[in-house]
Amino acid sequence: MTHPSRRSFLAAAAAAGSLAAIPKLVYAERTRARRLAAGDDHRGPCSISSGNGVRAVAKARDRIREGVDPVIAVVEGVGIVEADPNDTTVGLGGLPNEDGVVELDSSVMHGPTHKAGAVASIRDILHPAQVALKVLQTTDHVLIVGEGARRFAIAHGFEPTNLLTPKAREAWLRWKRSNSPNDDWLDDDQMDWTPDGRERRSADAGTPDPVPFTYGTIHCGATDAAGNVSAVTTTSGLSYKIPGRVGDSPIIGAGMYVDNEIGSAGATGRGEAVIQSCGSYSAVRHMGEGKLPTEACLAVLEEIATRSKRQRRLVDDEGRPNFNVVMYALRKDGAYGSAAMWSGASFAVATADGARREPCAHLFER
Ligand code: ASP
Repeated sequence: MTHPSRRSFLAAAAAAGSLAAIPKLVYAERTRARRLAAGDDHRGPCSISSGNGVRAVAKARDRIREGVDPVIAVVEGVGIVEADPNDTTVGLGGLPNEDGVVELDSSVMHGPTHKAGAVASIRDILHPAQVALKVLQTTDHVLIVGEGARRFAIAHGFEPTNLLTPKAREAWLRWKRSNSPNDDWLDDDQMDWTPDGRERRSADAGTPDPVPFTYGTIHCGATDAAGNVSAVTTTSGLSYKIPGRVGDSPIIGAGMYVDNEIGSAGATGRGEAVIQSCGSYSAVRHMGEGKLPTEACLAVLEEIATRSKRQRRLVDDEGRPNFNVVMYALRKDGAYGSAAMWSGASFAVATADGARREPCAHLFER
């Protein structure tokens, strides 16, 4: 049997419409993104994070310079943000679940050993990234959840702490009081399924939520002079989530992934979309196939945007996702890049030139 060439396969698929889902704007933005992506040229030790992590990347870079393993350096870096009560997306001060309880997710991965550790839905523990590191270092497991994770942390000497700050409690009470339609239980007209479990194909099915969800997280990846890469992601997750909901952050390959032969990637934003497209794994694979870090991030966002069209409630009238996702990618030689679904996002990076914020490339203009 003869196999069609990749080129003719792509041409045929495009003609059939399966690849025609991305609007022209995307390609215009990709061109622009290349110009923005000066970081794709960087070489040398580097740490990259979400926009809330300028202090985290600076700390990670400093610790790596002192000879500390990148996996320890990134966990120490994000620890600054976990302990900051003013960041309502991570650790102390994070917005709670719909019952008013703060539940945290985190994962960490060490490139040289390809070992990961993660905790999900952990309560009362200020530094979930440190607990994820303990899972990585002291167990044969990868992911420990809920009460088991809490007990594991306490066994390792972590002190249970009340993570719900007055500011986060007030925000939760306001959400409760407003009897908001902005929860994660789909209304009848939002579901793609009938109550007896049949897929609904009506054009009216899945009307979007009137109010956007609240996300926020810190991801941090770093590489040292020898090209050893590690990464961490830590979050309080989606605000007012259904208790026990696990986002992408503690899922290896979704919210964070490392391949020491290639580099690392991480994600923030709508975790459900990232999980269903294995976002971070996919970004690392794209880099492995030769894409620049920024291009790898954009490729993942294109995949997510195309797939989102299959659920009406997730796209606007022009078929564009009505949520944001930001991807971060770091190649083992220190080249770095980041891209967001929507314009206006920034990321943090630390190189020999210091720690700073840079604008993310994007697929769609607000
Ligand atoms: N990705 C996180 C989650 O879905 C939240 C975020 O990054 O904003 O839990």
